[in-house]
Order: sequence, then structure tokens, then C-alpha cells
Amino acid sequence: MKAGVLYAIEDLRIQDIPVPSPSENEILIRVEACAICGTDIRVYHYGHKHIRFPRITGHEISGEIVEVGIKVENYKIGQRVAVAPAVPCEECYYCRKGIQSMCLNLKGIGYHFDGGFTQFMIIPEVAVRNGCVNSIPDNLSLEEAALAEPLACAINGQELSKIGLGDTVVIIGAGPLGCMHMQLARVKGASKVILVELSLFRTNFAIDFAMPDVTINPSKENAVQRIKEETNGRGADRIIVACSNGKAQEESLEMVSPRGIVNFFGGLPKDSPYIKFNSNLVHYGEFYVVGTHGSAPYHNKLALNLLSQGRMEIKDLITHRLPLEKLKEGINLAESGEAMKVVILPNELSR
Ligand SMILES: [Zn+2]
Ligand SMILES: [Zn+2]
Repeated sequence: MKAGVLYAIEDLRIQDIPVPSPSENEILIRVEACAICGTDIRVYHYGHKHIRFPRITGHEISGEIVEVGIKVENYKIGQRVAVAPAVPCEECYYCRKGIQSMCLNLKGIGYHFDGGFTQFMIIPEVAVRNGCVNSIPDNLSLEEAALAEPLACAINGQELSKIGLGDTVVIIGAGPLGCMHMQLARVKGASKVILVELSLFRTNFAIDFAMPDVTINPSKENAVQRIKEETNGRGADRIIVACSNGKAQEESLEMVSPRGIVNFFGGLPKDSPYIKFNSNLVHYGEFYVVGTHGSAPYHNKLALNLLSQGRMEIKDLITHRLPLEKLKEGINLAESGEAMKVVILPNELSR
């Protein structure tokens, strides 16, 4: 089979390697779609503390089961599945509390285990056992199902942001996740969605994709002031900072209403993780600041259900489909800012 093997930082090779064989508690899938994520780009350039090379990366995965270990129950050959890549242990303090995304022994598919930029991959035992392999509803395409993973992260974020009926929600950043957040905020009952984004390409894309009520370009106007105007001077009830920008995080604290919630959904670069803000804003505004990192298998199931019920329509986020041989081009494209979701279809050409 062909696989995209990362041998070292920026040393990615498409190679012929043997199809792995599942042990008695594992599953082998034929990968049909694996979307490129911002994390894949970072891993390609900088590596990752949980990745030991050589490694097959890729964690937004869907495929079809082709082999099932003899001790695996409830799965069968031919079944279409989406993979939740953050694998909890179900035994630690946080797992027992039901907060699997904070698992103390969290393992990642595409990090600790080989991921989806390959024609076939093994789903490890702990992932099979702990609910990371979800059946794809019949009316969903494999490509859409691969996007259940980023959508699961958005769902986790909006649970923590407590977005509800009547809220005015500001999304900062219209990358793929910012776009999902805009749609999801509507599903959760937001009455007004405001987008703050610098890129014209992304703003125009978001207008078609998620129809925000207001768009603001912070290089052309004062975003804080504009949001105050749009909210009768109160500030927005909920703010999701869906970009990796400290300045955006700082400004978000001036845009939020009293008792509102700001979510630092995007992490900051490791070498500049500090921000500066007027702490009296928090003191007098009594607002909350929360962060979000990843998701739990349960969020992936929710994501598949939302998509299957037609309550969200995210397949238009896929702007590029490429064969595995073009994985490197795909990473460059995803990085260029001229693409939204780039999906690798590892078995497309072999049929
Ligand atoms: Zn991802
Ligand atoms: Zn755990």
C-alpha cells in the first residue's frame, strides 16, 4: 500500500509499505478520506512532542472496515466508520468524571499511533474499546464524515461557551473552524452572528458558507467599537477566538458583555504564549474566560448526528480533493490561506 510517512521535520515521503495486519482486538480500515488540519501543518514544520518519527500523520479520518480482529465485537467488514482520534483511557480521574478530552493518558491517532494519510490503517485496541470508531449514517458521504473530527472540537467549544437562545456571538477568524462555529452558533440558537476576519478571501467564503449578520475587517475599522455599536453598547454575549493570535485574544476581552463568555479556542504559538490585558475588565465585567482543546469521542458521535440530520451543512468547506501522492502539495495549499479544507483521498486513484 501507499503511505505518507513523515521521517523527520519536513521530510515527508510517499512510500510503498506492507498493509498492516490487525491483532485480535484491532480493526483494519481502508482510509477513504483524511482531511488536512492546521495541526498537520504545524507537525510537518515543527514536529510534535507526542510524535516519534517515522510516523504516518493525519487524524480527520473516515473509511471502510476491511478486517476485524477475532475478539472485536460490534463491528463488521464493509462498515463505514469515522474515527475519533483523541483516545481516552476511560480509567483516569477525568475520564471517570466524563471529561475525556482532559484524559491524563490521552493518546492521539496520528500522534502516538499511525494516522490516516495512508491507504490502510490499524485502529488500535484502546480506540476500538473506548468508543472512537463511529458508524457513519447512510446519508453521509465519507468526505463529510472525515470533517466530524473538527466539528467535534467546535461542539466541545460551544458546550464550554454555553451558547444559547438569543445570544449575540462573535467569531474571530473564518478558517474552517471559525466557519463551523458560525453555523453551529445558529443551530444552538444564536440570534446574531458577527464575524471578525482580516482576509478578504475568507470573509467572502464565510459570507457564502455561514451567512454572518455582520462582518468586520479589523484592519479597516475598530472591531471593539463596532461590536459595541452592534450590541447597544453592551458587548457580545459570547466570543470565540478561532485563530492563533494574541492581539485577537486581548481585544476579545474588550468586546464581551458583562457576565459573557470568551473562549480562547485557538492556541498561541509556543514561543509567544503571553497576552496583556486590563484585569479590571474582568473584575467589573464579571465575565468568564474559557479555553477549548480537542474533543471527546462523544462529541464525534454528536457531530455525525448533526450532519446526518441536515442541521449543519459543511461539505462546501472542502475546497480541494487530492490523491495521497499530492499530500505535500495539500499541506502547502492548506497553509496558503487560499484553501479551506483540503481532503486527501488515499484510495481514489487505485480504483
Ligand atoms: Zn484536526
Ligand atoms: Zn483517562
